[in-house]
Amino acid sequence: SSFAHLGFDEQLMKAIRRSEYSQPTPVQAAGVPAALAGRDLIGIARTGSGKTAAFLWPLLVHIMDQKELAPGDGPIGLILAPTRELAQQIYMEAKRFGKVYNIRCVCCYGGGSKWEQTKALEGGAEIVVGTPGRVIDLIKCKATNLKRVTYLVLDEADRMFDMGFEPQVRSICNHVRPERQALLFSATFPRRVEKLARDALHDPVRVQH
Ligand code: AMP
Repeated sequence: SSFAHLGFDEQLMKAIRRSEYSQPTPVQAAGVPAALAGRDLIGIARTGSGKTAAFLWPLLVHIMDQKELAPGDGPIGLILAPTRELAQQIYMEAKRFGKVYNIRCVCCYGGGSKWEQTKALEGGAEIVVGTPGRVIDLIKCKATNLKRVTYLVLDEADRMFDMGFEPQVRSICNHVRPERQALLFSATFPRRVEKLARDALHDPVRVQH
């Protein structure tokens, strides 16, 4: 499989070529077409599988399709991750590829300055990457909102649950509009994660590598 099969436009292809990725990883080859088709997705994949790009590239396409349709503030894409480190990694990759379309991205994690994150959100962002507790915190103090979210990513769902974020993750899922697209990634698939997938995803495509 090659990147040409994924159907990205020339701008995004150029950024991918600059990354010197020779071909899509299996998770990307299987997950990207499903995500681009608007399907919900369960990705059983760990770090190193290329899962981040697998949910980011379709998110960028989604945002370019949605932007004019959904004016307002608040992110269009919300990505939840278990730790500051992972949130920052995702953020770096989102910035790198989002730059292609001038898509703005903010990273919100516990332990970071709430004031700085609030300022960054005030500037506007189509993508928010964050840890569940901090995202809820920032919603409560009205620094951001979920009104415009139509693409929700739960990354490393098993680790988010291990860290005790299940109530926050579920609360966020329940407050994002029901007709959103949702993608769940997890290295393992214990019963609790399976239950979340059943509750939060609609007819998901399953990708395993
Ligand atoms: P991830 O599984 O998303 O944490 O990605 C692991 C690493 O693989 C990251 O450093 C990515 O930049 C890199 N990567 C993502 N997609 C590809 C690809 N198609 N070919 C080679 N490396 C990739």
